[in-house]
Amino acid sequence: MTLSIDGERLYAALASLGQIGAYVDETTGLRGVDRLALTDADGEGRRHVVARMKALGLDVSVDRIGNVFGRRAGTDERLAPVVLGSHIDSVPTAGVFDGCLGVLGGLEIVETLNQARRATRRPIVVAFFTDEEGCRFGTDMLGSAVATGRIALEDAYRLRDADGLVVRDELARIGFLGDIPPSPAGCRDRPHVYLECHIEQGPILRAAGDDIGVVTGVQSISWQELTIAGTYAHAGTTPMSLRADAGVAASRINLHLRDMIASDRYGALRATVGVMTLHPGLVNIVPGRVRLTVDLRNPDDASMHRAEDDLAAFLRVVERDERVTITARQTARTPHVPFDREVQARIAARAAARGLRHAAIMSGAGHDAQELARVARAGMIFVPGEHDGISHNPRELSTRDQCARGVDVLLDVALSFADEGGTP
Ligand SMILES: [Zn+2]
Repeated sequence: MTLSIDGERLYAALASLGQIGAYVDETTGLRGVDRLALTDADGEGRRHVVARMKALGLDVSVDRIGNVFGRRAGTDERLAPVVLGSHIDSVPTAGVFDGCLGVLGGLEIVETLNQARRATRRPIVVAFFTDEEGCRFGTDMLGSAVATGRIALEDAYRLRDADGLVVRDELARIGFLGDIPPSPAGCRDRPHVYLECHIEQGPILRAAGDDIGVVTGVQSISWQELTIAGTYAHAGTTPMSLRADAGVAASRINLHLRDMIASDRYGALRATVGVMTLHPGLVNIVPGRVRLTVDLRNPDDASMHRAEDDLAAFLRVVERDERVTITARQTARTPHVPFDREVQARIAARAAARGLRHAAIMSGAGHDAQELARVARAGMIFVPGEHDGISHNPRELSTRDQCARGVDVLLDVALSFADEGGTP
C-alpha cells in the first residue's frame, strides 16, 4: 500500500509556524514573515518546531552551531540515517514556505509513518540548519557549512551582525547553543542520503505545468564587492574632460554585464548589481567613490570563470578610461554543485509512479543541500510557486496540493533509501 501524507495537516503546520515572526507589509497589506536568524522570533520558531518533534516521539539534539536534529529510530540503529532537512530562519520579508516546507514536510512524513505504524530499517532524522539565509551575519548556509566542515566553528562563532552582536552569544541568548559537535546528521554517522524538499522560488515549473522539479544541482555563485575611487568635484565648474567620475564608472560596469549576457559567450550567466552607493550622494557633486556589488550565477563552472576573468579585464579598461581605481573583494564563491544521479533518478521515478509531471531543473538559489552534497549523497525536490514563483516576499505562495505532492514524493524517496541495508 502506498502511504500518502496529509496535505491539510502539512498546510496547517506551515500556517502555524508562519504566525511566528508575522508582520503586515505596509505597501500591500499582505502578511509576511520575519524570522531573521538567532533573533527572538527565530528562537520562538525553533521552540515551536522542537515541541512538535518531541510530540512525535523524536529524539531531539542540538549541536554547537544550533543545528537541530529530531531522530526517529530505525529497526537497525547501526545503519546511517536518512536525513530530511532544510531551514526555518527567514529573510526579513519572507513568506511561510521557504525552508519551512522541507522541515515541516519531514515532520509530516514522521507523523504519517507513526500513524501507519510503519517502521523503517534506517533511522530517519529531520533537521533544520542555522542561518541558511545569511541576511544577518553575512554568510549563508552557515549551520550546514559548519556541520560539513567548510566553515570552522570558531570562525562562525565570531561573525557579527550590523549591531556588533556575535553568533555565539546570540545562539546562547535564544537557548540554542547546543552541546554536541556539529555534524550533518546529529550523530557520528554521515547521512545515508540527504533529501530536501523546497519551493522553486522561480517561475519555471508553474509555467510548464510541472508538479515536481528534479533538481540537478545548484549553480555556481560569485559575489564581489567593488570599491571605485574617483575624484569628488564641483558639478558646475569641473570640465567634463577633467573628471574622474566614479558614478559613471559604476554605470558602465552594470551595463557591461548586460552586454556580456547579450554576447552569449558565458552560457546561462545571470548578473545583478544589487548595490550601487554613490558618495557623497549629492546633486551637485561628481561622485568620488562608489560601492557596488556584483552577483554572478552560472550553471557551468568554465563559463563562470570566463565571465569573472572578462569582467576583471573590463574593470581595468574602466580604470583607464575613467581615471578611477577599482578594488574588488570576493565576498562569496561557490562552484556548481551537481546532485547525486541515483537520488535524481528515484525522485523522477516516484513522481512518475504517482502520476505527477516532473522535469529536471537547476537551482538558481543556494540551499543547505549543496553543503550536504560534499559529505553525502544529496538531492532536492522542488515544488512550483504561484505568482511567477516569487519568493523572499510576502506574496510567496505554493498551494496545498503543490506542497503535498512534493512531500509525498519526498516520503517515497525517503522510504526507498530508509529500507535499504548495505554498508552503514
Ligand atoms: Zn530556503
